[in-house]
Amino acid sequence: MASVVFDRVSKQYDDVFAVKDLSLAIADREFLVLVGPSGCGKTTSLRMLAGLESATQGEIRIGDRYVNDLPAKDRDIAMVFQSYALYPHMSVYENMAFGLQLRGMPKSEIQQRVQAAATQLGIEALLHRKPKALSGGQRQRVAVGRAIVRNPAVFLMDEPLSNLDAKLRVQARTELSKLHRDLNATFVYVTHDQVEAMTMGTRIAVLNDGMLQQVDTPQNLYNHPKNVFVASFIGSPSMNFFEGTLRRDGETLSASTSSFELPISIRRSRPFQGHVNSAVIIGIRPENIYDPKCIPPGIRTIPIEATVTVTEQMGSEIVAYLVTPDGVDFVARVDRRSAIQVGQTIRLAMDSEQFHFFDRQTEYVLA
Ligand code: ATP
Repeated sequence: MASVVFDRVSKQYDDVFAVKDLSLAIADREFLVLVGPSGCGKTTSLRMLAGLESATQGEIRIGDRYVNDLPAKDRDIAMVFQSYALYPHMSVYENMAFGLQLRGMPKSEIQQRVQAAATQLGIEALLHRKPKALSGGQRQRVAVGRAIVRNPAVFLMDEPLSNLDAKLRVQARTELSKLHRDLNATFVYVTHDQVEAMTMGTRIAVLNDGMLQQVDTPQNLYNHPKNVFVASFIGSPSMNFFEGTLRRDGETLSASTSSFELPISIRRSRPFQGHVNSAVIIGIRPENIYDPKCIPPGIRTIPIEATVTVTEQMGSEIVAYLVTPDGVDFVARVDRRSAIQVGQTIRLAMDSEQFHFFDRQTEYVLA
């Protein structure tokens, strides 16, 4: 098994930088997810690691080997593609065995490896079938099986679940996480879906516009986003943002917006001292906004007045879309017992300890 390093790696196509100056160290046996919106450079990063694209600049290392000049077949990686790329004229067995045959592996060992992978993935009964006679979920497993039999140092996966329906995707997510534990291998996984990233990654690298925004554990990304992009990308529904200004009133600080006034406790105020009178963006997640009749004990809140425009009954909660009197839209995930109604103007309660503050110019967190 092996670690992976991108050291100041860039990829340029004519005048487009698909990836800009990417530095990322992935530990041995880590499940690292590359996540970001369409076109952010995830697939290009993965393809450079796989040896399917060359880097314009920078170094890529797998284990202690510099691999920039190494052909894909010699990199000791196996890739699972979004399309699965199964050979339609071959059976499942042949699809899984093909790469090993090309390497000249003895037949008995191939048989043993394919059988073991098929058992691990629960597809033994499908080995004689052709891909067209498989469901989407079964094809996905065959594609993973084809990677497993190679016993690679690093598994590379490019949106392998995106062709599955929502329910199957959830099941496949847990299966892949379990597989990662069982194989004890390094996984580099590309997705645009932040839920997939949050549920599977031991760490997540968030990309935007070819640039790495932040790399951290799911929990740290959620609790401590470094900038507005990460704050809005991680979490669903997204964090709400309000434009405001930091003010000093004697010893205390407050954040002032057209929708609410937020006193900042002395304990929390240290990072903000240098930003008094600065323009800021104030973020709060939908789950930190409450119907005032359903506030959990021990939470200190500040009010915000708004009119409810849409409600979505989720069963376990209600997602309410609201607009403030001065036209700022925001979202709250309120208690399922809330009697919140479309058209109603109410005062919601925001948890005063759960705000995030960003510089309006740089969009970086105030720290
Ligand atoms: P998606 O989720 O849509 O697959 P992505 O994050 O994987 O997106 P990439 O496929 O890595 O993004 O593409 C990054 C950028 O590089 C995009 O702007 C894309 O148009 C550009 N790009 C990718 N491949 C090429 C190419 N062969 N020639 C020119 N531009 C390319």
